[in-house]
Amino acid sequence: MELTDHAGVIHLHSAYSFDGRAPLAEIISAARQNGLVFLLLTDHATLRARDDGFEGWHDGVLVVVGEEIAPRFNHYLAFGLKEAVSTPDETPEIPPQAYIDRVRDRGGMGFIAHPDHEGAELFHVKHYPWTDWRAAGYTGLGIWDFMTDWQGSLSGRFRAILSYAFPALFLRGPSPKTLARWDRLTQERRVVGIGELDNHDSPKRLLGITLSVFPFRRAFSLIRTHVLTEGPFSGNSGEDIAALLNALKKGRAYASLDHFRPATGFSLILTEKGRSATMGDEFPLECSAELVVRVPYRARIRLIRNGALFHEKTGTALSLAIGEPGVYRAEAELTVLGRRRPWIFSNPVYVTSRP
Ligand SMILES: [Zn+2]
Ligand SMILES: [Zn+2]
Repeated sequence: MELTDHAGVIHLHSAYSFDGRAPLAEIISAARQNGLVFLLLTDHATLRARDDGFEGWHDGVLVVVGEEIAPRFNHYLAFGLKEAVSTPDETPEIPPQAYIDRVRDRGGMGFIAHPDHEGAELFHVKHYPWTDWRAAGYTGLGIWDFMTDWQGSLSGRFRAILSYAFPALFLRGPSPKTLARWDRLTQERRVVGIGELDNHDSPKRLLGITLSVFPFRRAFSLIRTHVLTEGPFSGNSGEDIAALLNALKKGRAYASLDHFRPATGFSLILTEKGRSATMGDEFPLECSAELVVRVPYRARIRLIRNGALFHEKTGTALSLAIGEPGVYRAEAELTVLGRRRPWIFSNPVYVTSRP
């Protein structure tokens, strides 16, 4: 199984959103400058970018047009749809289960967006969490949302200025609450974790200055999602979008902050007697398998089993015998400017007992 790692960004808003500003052509060019391979666009309640011919390859950047369904609470990112499932005026009324089902019935997939978003009083940003945890049938959820994490640092005006200038230094990683909930969910079924950016390039006033939060050329160095497809892309837009979305649906993905060091090259591979598995796979354990986690730069690597720390090591690889079923995922932290920084959060491999 030869997998190819594609770094991209999920959840962003262009001028097609009522609260977005940047023309898509400018966003695509910023993605190219940042070395991103794909963009999963999520304008509010519209797929107009596709009607205008933006879906597909743009000189090295694959654009996939999705939609954010955004009532007051319970925002949902939907992909793989032929037409938009929501309209701006109806969204306040529908319960989340209705749009989760609607997306699925129309052959799409969906992710709970920024589940523990808290808002930022200083910038007059309201809180937009997911509140309905009885809902079922979603593909996955955002485990690390740039806006949630960054807005958490805006506790005062001076700090906000610094945090605007150096956002990567202020990120703390996924909310422990989000990770704990995700770990509980994955013990029941496959729930794919993604990284989100949720950037709008919107103007915000601070100390009398109007700032753009954030220009895409800056935002694209922050939270990414890497998706691993079987083999490289073909160059055919339709085929490559299908391959990307299929791999994402399986959970062959990890979220990362690539600002300090690119995460490309990260891997989590489980092998036993010639059989192997990776993130998102289910693996029936015969007796004892070897789990190897590799990172491209020296980091603190943590292996999590069923939500609890299972093993930890500093280096570029962690290798361990696995003799117990469980849901295993990895995290890695870099040390930058004398402090540990969140870097990589992988999807789990689901190790089951022999049938
Ligand atoms: Zn949202
Ligand atoms: Zn959004």
